[in-house]
Amino acid sequence: MTPEVATAIARLRERTAEARRAGKTVGCVPTMGALHAGHGALIDCARAGTGFVVVTVFVNPLQFDRRDDYDAYARVLESDVAFCGERGVDVVFAPPVEEMYPQPSATFVDVPPLAECLCGKFRTGHFRGVATVVAKLFHIVEPDFAYFGEKDAQQLAIVERMVRDLNFPLTIVPVPTVREPDGLALSSRNRRLTPEERRIAPVLYRALRQARATLTDGPGAARQAALDVLAGEPSARVEYLEVVDAGSMHPVDRIQGPVKIAAAVWLGNTRLIDNV
Ligand code: AMP
Repeated sequence: MTPEVATAIARLRERTAEARRAGKTVGCVPTMGALHAGHGALIDCARAGTGFVVVTVFVNPLQFDRRDDYDAYARVLESDVAFCGERGVDVVFAPPVEEMYPQPSATFVDVPPLAECLCGKFRTGHFRGVATVVAKLFHIVEPDFAYFGEKDAQQLAIVERMVRDLNFPLTIVPVPTVREPDGLALSSRNRRLTPEERRIAPVLYRALRQARATLTDGPGAARQAALDVLAGEPSARVEYLEVVDAGSMHPVDRIQGPVKIAAAVWLGNTRLIDNV
């Protein structure tokens, strides 16, 4: 069944209120659209775990550090709605920018200790934009559960911390990364890769796996092992590749607890991120 597309906050709230009156729990899957099987995994978890599923589709201008990236971001609402219909989504919330930001926001959510490394170091203001829009979406949807992909590990850590620090009455559910058969993590940005770039792209996950296999020799050796793999594809430009503490997202030089190996790599004009 085709889900209703709510573009107004008031209409979305009518639908969630109705669901709550019927005794249903509400699940929220925040996305920027151009939905793929990675988003599909989040939606399936929401469908399995809650009675009423809201998928939000909003390309949030506040989290883009480059205008060209914002402009080029794929916007395919019609096929996104069909995708949601196939997965039993109840409502797609797809507000226009003016509905989310009727005036420029004067209030922001910042999680500086978790946002200063990795992507935060290279994308100024990105996580402030993410945290702010996710806080707004949580206030609009008021979900019991919200679903986020482990593919965006730093984003997930920041949202989890924001929820704890600001007492949002909901549970964040992390969902494992969905990959192509060759290992490339699914991403809405993959559709921008040229055939040659697409051929090269799995090098990122290969490098991360190599690092993981080398981790017993320490973070420095693991990092170097990954960089060696990436050096095999000279057209892949490494923005960062770090072994970080899974809680703080800060690089470590010794393994004392759970770590993530995270990287950002440019192929032509497309930036890919991944982690293990
Ligand atoms: P995006 O539309 O790229 O902002 O992503 C929306 C949500 O989908 C985020 O929580 C992402 O982490 C998640 N997501 C994106 N790609 C994947 C993937 N390949 N596997 C699992 N989750 C993903």
